Amino acid sequence: MRTPIIAGNWKMNKNPKETQEFLDGIKGKLPESGVEAIIGAPAIDLTTLVAGAEGTPLKTAAENSYFEESGAFTGETSPKALDEMGVDYVIIGHSERRQYFGETDEDINKKAHAILKNNMLPIICCGETLEQREAGKAESWVTGQIENAVKGISAADLVKSVIAYEPIWAIGTGKTATADQAQEMVHVIREKVASLYDADTADKVRILYGGSVKPANVKELMAKEDIDGGLVGGASMDPESFLALANFQK
Ligand code: PGA
Repeated sequence: MRTPIIAGNWKMNKNPKETQEFLDGIKGKLPESGVEAIIGAPAIDLTTLVAGAEGTPLKTAAENSYFEESGAFTGETSPKALDEMGVDYVIIGHSERRQYFGETDEDINKKAHAILKNNMLPIICCGETLEQREAGKAESWVTGQIENAVKGISAADLVKSVIAYEPIWAIGTGKTATADQAQEMVHVIREKVASLYDADTADKVRILYGGSVKPANVKELMAKEDIDGGLVGGASMDPESFLALANFQK
């Protein structure tokens, strides 16, 4: 039984004060069980977020971390420090980081190892461009991204980790992949995990869909067999909207 996940990704939005306002807005209103609610926030907000999440069902995520734990890497965030702060997850390989910051599959794999070593769990993102989809290359691209991201990761670590399929053409565009399109690719990813590991690992790993998920479409997406949750940008920033997503089962 895979526990569903609703994971917010605030991207480069909100300051610590706004983070606190969000926390006040959701206080006492998240489901106690049946769903894992996560907020991914900018590094500058994590102290506030972790403090506010303590003792509540909310889990926390960083939106990036470096693969080295310390040293002369000006401007980077240490996975060791994130763990010491009490952060639970780290989003890696988001298309915006690949596109604007030149993150490669190799970087993402190194980051996945560093995050696991530091007692946190990676949320590994993958997804194709519209061009790749139209050229019939989406499946090979996405499965290739996953194969590279998980190199050297044990089955025991992978089943605790999370994969997020986010077609780039559906991110922030209001253009959601249809539930069938999302299910189809998430299923392909699960089959890839089965071929790289085994059926049991594939059956246990949680795979999310991301790209314009909102309260109005979350139920339909979550009803699909292989989709275990959503990675949500825009619709995760308002407390009411995040609560509506997290309470999708009600
Ligand atoms: P969106 O972003 O929900 O605003 O489309 C999703 C994401 O980039 O994780």
